[in-house]
Amino acid sequence: MMKFNLAEYLEELRPLINVDCGTYTLEGIECVASQFEQKFQAMTGWYVKRVDCAKAGVGLEIRNKPDTEQIDIMLVGHLDTVFAKGTAAQRPMSYDNEKAYGPGVADMKSGLLNIVYALRHLEPDLIDKCSICVCMNPDEEVGSADSVAWLQSVAKHAKHALVVEAARADGGLVKARKGRACYQLNFHGVAAHAGNEPQNGRSAITELAHWIVAINGMTNFDSGTTLNVGVVSGGTNSNTVAEYADAAVEVRFWSNEEYQQVDAALKRMQANPFIDGVSVALEREVYKPAMMPSERTESLMKLVETLAQELEIDIKWHSAGGGSDANHMAILGIPTIDGLGAIGGHFHSDKEYLLLESIEPRIRLLMRILQQLAA
Ligand SMILES: [Zn+2]
Repeated sequence: MMKFNLAEYLEELRPLINVDCGTYTLEGIECVASQFEQKFQAMTGWYVKRVDCAKAGVGLEIRNKPDTEQIDIMLVGHLDTVFAKGTAAQRPMSYDNEKAYGPGVADMKSGLLNIVYALRHLEPDLIDKCSICVCMNPDEEVGSADSVAWLQSVAKHAKHALVVEAARADGGLVKARKGRACYQLNFHGVAAHAGNEPQNGRSAITELAHWIVAINGMTNFDSGTTLNVGVVSGGTNSNTVAEYADAAVEVRFWSNEEYQQVDAALKRMQANPFIDGVSVALEREVYKPAMMPSERTESLMKLVETLAQELEIDIKWHSAGGGSDANHMAILGIPTIDGLGAIGGHFHSDKEYLLLESIEPRIRLLMRILQQLAA
């Protein structure tokens, strides 16, 4: 059984918080990764593989049965935060009677540490019965572009995926997350003098204006597919027909099918511009599919509910507008649950906190889930 000592936990958490490790801050990512590498190397029966995540730095793949193809349980968390260099020195980890504070304290250094605690304290025979893989990636906060292929190549072999992001402020877990796609649009027309020969110009700005109206028309507030033209620019001068314009567009959605229709519509518009003589470049820069609970996810949710009741933890299920790595697992059809960390709030802000009294119960819940899935 686990004897939990909060003061010890917080002292182990502190060096994970007091280092700047925003995405692409490679020294900080390396510092956090090597702390976890050492923790697992100090536990018997775990093998740590470093994974090269290109410009995002290093990821960790930690397994108890590295030669088995099948993975019974995949645990997922990220090493990066959203905070700029200097934040750790400005407001290092602190705590009072209720909460701990500091950059990434809830999102999600404590989640990663909870994975360590759970695996440290599970019975060795039980761990030996199943194949577990922990993946810690360095770029979740920007959409995991440099780690998604690796994460999905692992997830393909996994029976269950548990993402240990923090639980919501009311203790709720996450069963559904919206998908998100971002596009960069570039419009090239033909410049002309607005006084002498405007008829020979092809305005990139006018083409862009048609796109804005068409894109707004694709929003469906009822189903939750929403499009936002968030940034536009173009033109040089009021006396010149604009040769160039561009725009940044974001799409959010619950339905992956509806998103596919939006994507197809944008491509059709690209192939058939509104104005003859204007060409359009369309580049998708970010893509995260929506995560909606499948039947198999629903039975995993039932199991989690039952185990939480046994521990007298009140579980609610939330649908979150923002995405996480859980979206990348769920799209492969893997039963996926997110929010299995301790309770926290005000993520991505200087008010971010971790609720101290929730740490031990959530580690116990994670351990119970692992025991049941291993059995
Ligand atoms: Zn996070």
